Amino acid sequence: MGANVVAVAEHREGKIAGVTYELVAKGRELAAKTGGAVQVALLGKGVSGLAGEVASRGVEVLLAEHDALAAYTAGGYAQALAAMLRSPPKILLAGHTSQGFDLAPRLAAEWTAPIVANCVDLAMEDGTLIASRKILNDKMAVELAVTSERPYIATLRPGSVKPVGPAGAPGKVTPVSVLIDPAKNGRTFHGYERPEVQDIDIAAADVVVSAGRGIQKKENLPVIEGLAKALGGVVGASRPLTDMDWLPKTRQVGQSGKTVRPKLYIACGISGAMQHIAGMKDAGLIIAINTDPSAPIFEVAHYGVVANVLEFVPALVKELKSG
Ligand SMILES: Cc1cc2nc3c(=O)[nH]c(=O)nc-3n(C[C@H](O)[C@H](O)[C@H](O)COP(=O)(O)OP(=O)(O)OC[C@H]3O[C@@H](n4cnc5c(N)ncnc54)[C@H](O)[C@@H]3O)c2cc1C
Repeated sequence: MGANVVAVAEHREGKIAGVTYELVAKGRELAAKTGGAVQVALLGKGVSGLAGEVASRGVEVLLAEHDALAAYTAGGYAQALAAMLRSPPKILLAGHTSQGFDLAPRLAAEWTAPIVANCVDLAMEDGTLIASRKILNDKMAVELAVTSERPYIATLRPGSVKPVGPAGAPGKVTPVSVLIDPAKNGRTFHGYERPEVQDIDIAAADVVVSAGRGIQKKENLPVIEGLAKALGGVVGASRPLTDMDWLPKTRQVGQSGKTVRPKLYIACGISGAMQHIAGMKDAGLIIAINTDPSAPIFEVAHYGVVANVLEFVPALVKELKSG
């Protein structure tokens, strides 16, 4: 097949994971530099509908369906990829997710290829792969230059890249038959275990209104919830609030929480520590409300309001409702 860049699609229970479209976006950029095209490898069983969904983003999809691919296993995926690609691509991309960082090292071992994991950006310069990564708890950014005759394998941190949107002309779906020996999978999939408390996914929301320690006490959370509701958004939080159990951990934005990329992010009483900023700096529009005009959050905010959040937000909600 000889594609230059192959992105491994991720899906679960009939839904394509958003990182797949981020891989396509980055893959396209890299393919432009290597003079080739990006293809998506979609593996599963009964997933032709998903293949069509991915192809609607204007990218060719290589579709492999097999009983042994009904659920993800690294062994099944590695065998299928080896069969469907015939020769390894120049670059293989996977999400830096529990699936991607399980699969990528296995492929690297089987293909004797270098791997860079958890990249926040990737570029190709004169045949050298430049991988941007964060180290030391995201305190420092580094660029790694990797040169190899072998394929490059990289995992991309979800939320690092703007995903591709729907395209005017869909890409084609190319079914590829694969032979898989289930005995070589090494692992058996038994089922998904869900967290007991189901909560909303703040990473999927267009509007996130986050509360920080500046809201003073848990009883003031309805102020923030009121603004989120008025804007059709969801409530996020800085870490101290989830540490104090004011909100579930699933709401935490930042380095040790979730990375969000909403159209609108409103930081209410959040100082803007680097660990928080790591999780929201790529939002489309950032508005910060803080009493301290020198709070670091104002350095990343597009608009800043120096005010008491407990006075400003109710007034804003009133204004939004009357408008
Ligand atoms: C390894 C590690 C990982 C971490 N991961 C994360 C993470 O994922 N996410 C995260 O958020 N943090 C994380 N942290 C913690 C981070 O360093 C900060 O401590 C935290 O983000 C601060 O939260 P805050 O801004 O809500 O509180 P503070 O820093 O206490 O800031 C409160 C802000 O509210 C303002 N304020 C006070 N009263 C009002 C008012 N009435 N109206 C308006 N403004 C007001 C103050 O001026 C201040 O700027 C991590 C730390 C470490 C060491």
